Amino acid sequence: MSIDLHSHSSHSDGELSPSDLIELALKNKATMLSITDHDTVSAYEGLGKRSGLQVIPGVEFSSIWGNVNVHVVGLGIDPFDQDLLSACADQSVRRLKRAQIIAWRLFSSRVVPSVELAMEGVLEIAGRRAIGRPHFAEYLVQIGACADTGSAFHSYLAAGKAGDVKDQWPDMDEVIAWIRQAGGTPVLAHPAKYKMTRSKLIRMITDFKKFGGESIEVCSGYQTNETTRSISQLSERFDLSASCGSDFHSIDRPWSQLGKVPDLPKNCRPVWEKWV
Ligand code: AMP
Ligand code: MN
Ligand code: MN
Ligand code: MN
Repeated sequence: MSIDLHSHSSHSDGELSPSDLIELALKNKATMLSITDHDTVSAYEGLGKRSGLQVIPGVEFSSIWGNVNVHVVGLGIDPFDQDLLSACADQSVRRLKRAQIIAWRLFSSRVVPSVELAMEGVLEIAGRRAIGRPHFAEYLVQIGACADTGSAFHSYLAAGKAGDVKDQWPDMDEVIAWIRQAGGTPVLAHPAKYKMTRSKLIRMITDFKKFGGESIEVCSGYQTNETTRSISQLSERFDLSASCGSDFHSIDRPWSQLGKVPDLPKNCRPVWEKWV
């Protein structure tokens, strides 16, 4: 049995269309899948069903806690809920404003030739997708400012770099409320990725729980067994159910392949219990 509750399609920064994602999930023998695009649920518009695979509608919201850009996955949402759709529309406006600030910051750092040209190039790359830093990374490669997208993040887009703009995002409690009102379960995404000290992480999880968070990603993409064990202990301590997801974006990232997620440790209460 393989369950993958965190993945990206071409509606945000993933490579595959939603229907190709479903085919790949079947090929990789997944039985349950959630497509959790960044701040959009448009992948679910007109998405057909396939036997053998249970699709749990999801989303990954960008939010802010203190000065940290925290991602909250919403699982089991109604992707046609009007309030949720209007929240996604707000996020899309925020993404566009943020892209302009990123372009301006990269121009100030003399990385791009002009704000206008950078916006034109990035908008062309993003097309109708949820515009974000990965599209800037592609643009920087395209204009020859960086050798590859990894080094574009490393030099200009990762946390603390010129293009790391996060003050546009709503507070964590707000995105948790969006998910809950749309009938979904709020899941704290990839806790190890924030590179926080354990005491800061505990403060964040305390707030997440207080704001109505219900679950935490115990298994996410590639992480050490030690990390998984440590997060599973937090899930027990805070009585949060456990989720698992590859955070799949594309097939050229061997450490994050669709449906290839380790089993949850035995002490965990799986988030998907209510859907089987
Ligand atoms: P954004 O939604 O604009 O904040 O961009 C966040 C996305 O950028 C993440 O979901 C990843 O897909 C990607 N990303 C973040 N950090 C890196 C990195 N160091 N290298 C490559 N991609 C990254
Ligand atoms: Mn992404
Ligand atoms: Mn994320
Ligand atoms: Mn993700």
